[in-house]
Amino acid sequence: MPRQRVVVVGAGIAGLTTAFLLSKDRQYDITVAAKHMPGDYDIEYSSPWAGANYMPVSVVDTDAAGWERDTWYFLNELTLQHPEAGIHFQKTYIHNRLKDVGSVTANWFSGLLSPDPWWKTLFRDYRQIPKDELAPGVDNAHSFTSVCINTALYLPWLVSQCLANGVIFKRAHFLHITDAASSDIHHSGYAANTVINCTGLGARKLGGVLDGQLYPARGQIVVVRNACHEMFSVSGTDDGPDEATYVMARAAGGGTILGGCYQKDNWESQPDPSMALRIMKRCVKACPQLTNGRGIEFLDVVRHAVGLRPVREGGARVDKENIDGIWVVHNYGHGGAGYQCSYGCAKAAVKLVHSVRHQERSHL
Ligand code: FAD
Repeated sequence: MPRQRVVVVGAGIAGLTTAFLLSKDRQYDITVAAKHMPGDYDIEYSSPWAGANYMPVSVVDTDAAGWERDTWYFLNELTLQHPEAGIHFQKTYIHNRLKDVGSVTANWFSGLLSPDPWWKTLFRDYRQIPKDELAPGVDNAHSFTSVCINTALYLPWLVSQCLANGVIFKRAHFLHITDAASSDIHHSGYAANTVINCTGLGARKLGGVLDGQLYPARGQIVVVRNACHEMFSVSGTDDGPDEATYVMARAAGGGTILGGCYQKDNWESQPDPSMALRIMKRCVKACPQLTNGRGIEFLDVVRHAVGLRPVREGGARVDKENIDGIWVVHNYGHGGAGYQCSYGCAKAAVKLVHSVRHQERSHL
């Protein structure tokens, strides 16, 4: 049986995880083709800018909840078995203030803030923090041990796993999704049987897809050398309805991420200095251990950064369609949850690739 030729378009967390899972099955011969690759920092490439941590934001009984559930088991196992992937466990605290209800940030975090979340059984040490332990202004809170991913290590780790499984990587920029199926893209020199579309926000202007439901949610962060040994998030801020406060330390010397914001439809790639000040002040107030109880002038800044989360109205798109005779499996539009749903979505996309193969074989 000849191997099925597949081109994965995109080398962010979605493309790399999908290529990695699919490459475990030797019946597929895979090329990953993308405009940006791990090592690049660009506003059109979301994955390097993410924290990234696992804090489930999905609502019970949705596809997204299933994807996040599957991904937790995968990331947990990876953290235990593969320290070289650059992921570590972190104690996590989520604080909810009822006064934030309805704000952009609280809506984004809604699945995370629920006082009785579907995901509580995933974590052995999940705990509702009793009322008498809550800080003034906090209405409910929970804690559990989650993971934080050093994306500067994890993305190359995924590339290395793909390479070990025979995947070929190349740079390419497509104007139309079906161009990825042409014989000059797949490394065999033959046309691909299936294309997997993992182009994130790029799917908005990619011919054949042109998904108008996609929009950016701008995130601004500050990366510092100061240590914080716990992750922390709160439902909102007093500085604006689309600003956020979160702190997470990346594994293996990746620095501590101070965030942030969730600015819908804002394409600005440059950090806003006054927002940076607000972020630093809020994070130091929330986690005084960052500067040993001193002011923000004791933060040691590595860089200020901005990334765009690829949000899709109605949720991420994981499905298949035939475009001009080419089978395309879509896996994009993961918003602020691309890492924490990466494995679940990749598993669903791989299942769709298998179904395309079976469909083609039944027509032979
Ligand atoms: P991208 O990483 O954007 O990759 C898209 C790929 O497609 C790139 O390789 C690009 O070059 C390629 N491409 C696009 N168009 C074309 C084309 N026409 N031709 C060829 N190639 C093309 N998620 C979490 O789970 N946890 C977090 O803690 C978290 N924190 C975040 C913090 C910030 C500040 C930001 C910005 C995001 C955060 N996210 C987090 C979200 C996460 O980063 C995204 O959901 C994820 O990176 C999206 O990955 P992707 O692979 O779909 O897209």
